[in-house]
Amino acid sequence: MIRSLIFFIAIILVYYAVKTVIRSAFSAYTGERSRPRSLKGEEMILDPECRTYVIKERAVTRRIGRTVHSFCSEACADRYEKAHHGERG
Ligand SMILES: [Zn+2]
Repeated sequence: MIRSLIFFIAIILVYYAVKTVIRSAFSAYTGERSRPRSLKGEEMILDPECRTYVIKERAVTRRIGRTVHSFCSEACADRYEKAHHGERG
């Protein structure tokens, strides 16, 4: 009797474990698929000047021409702006 009860509980535990795994795998597949790779919700962007990745919130943004670029520092922004400003006349 006790053995069958333990067996029954084990079945329930396995059932919930499998259910949790399937659910998390499914949500990971559907939810995280199109999202860009991020660390703790912090988005990383590439500095076009020195080619380092910076956290978007800490990045220095500058509008050059029609597009807004993000840089790791003001120095990089200046350098990039000098190199690309007036490119199109
Ligand atoms: Zn930089």
